Amino acid sequence: MDLKKGEFLYEGKAKKIWASENKGRYIIEYKDDLTAFNAEKKATMEGKGALNNAISAYLLGYLNSKGVPTHFLEAVDERHQIVKAVKIVPLEVVLRNITTGSLCRRLGVEESLQLPRPLVEFYLKDDALGDPLVTEDHALLFGWATREELDTMKVLTLKVNDLLRELFEKHGIVLVDFKLEFGRTEEGELVVADEISPDTCRFWDRSTGDRLDKDRFRKDLGDVLGAYREIWRRLSTEEA
Ligand code: UDP
Repeated sequence: MDLKKGEFLYEGKAKKIWASENKGRYIIEYKDDLTAFNAEKKATMEGKGALNNAISAYLLGYLNSKGVPTHFLEAVDERHQIVKAVKIVPLEVVLRNITTGSLCRRLGVEESLQLPRPLVEFYLKDDALGDPLVTEDHALLFGWATREELDTMKVLTLKVNDLLRELFEKHGIVLVDFKLEFGRTEEGELVVADEISPDTCRFWDRSTGDRLDKDRFRKDLGDVLGAYREIWRRLSTEEA
């Protein structure tokens, strides 16, 4: 598919989005910018956009192939993807298999605990408010999502976890937690949108415990790009 960029729609922290000549399709560009702590910490790393484009295309394509609907259609070059046009639900859905990050800071629970089952949380997508944790009742009462949409998002997020945990396990990587966004297509279908990449997931090497994700940037662990490259190397290498 060879679509031309149409009207510029939106610039986020890590991506830009354009309309296209096809009403039902958007074009996404993955940027080299990296942000953390609600954009208080920023950097640009040459090659990060291309890596996340490749990783995200692979993972979203994998989910499509396993029956989880996503907005992803095609990666067209190093930085660009064609996706279904969606209206984004203003909630971030976070799934955690192991405790870390904001969960430990907020609740004072121990780090690196394996949870007996996956924990699913909703956050309001609002930079000015720092993406606060919200309850399902908040989402319902303020009209951010319907009961049916919340239920579908939870079911799909758990399915994504099952599929990606198994996939990463084969590559010697533990899927610690991740964030999903959802969008409504023109046909009214709720699909996984945005990206799935080391910017939006935590990946730990199974044998060394090395952090292979944005925590390298958040915590100044060094060689951020090397970690992203390693994720892509393992995903794009034939399984053993
Ligand atoms: N996450 C994300 N975008 C956000 C917040 C979180 O992609 O705006 C991801 C993050 O990379 C991690 C998971 O969601 O994989 C849980 O993040 P957490 O709430 O622990 O946030 P943090 O510690 O980064 O503040």
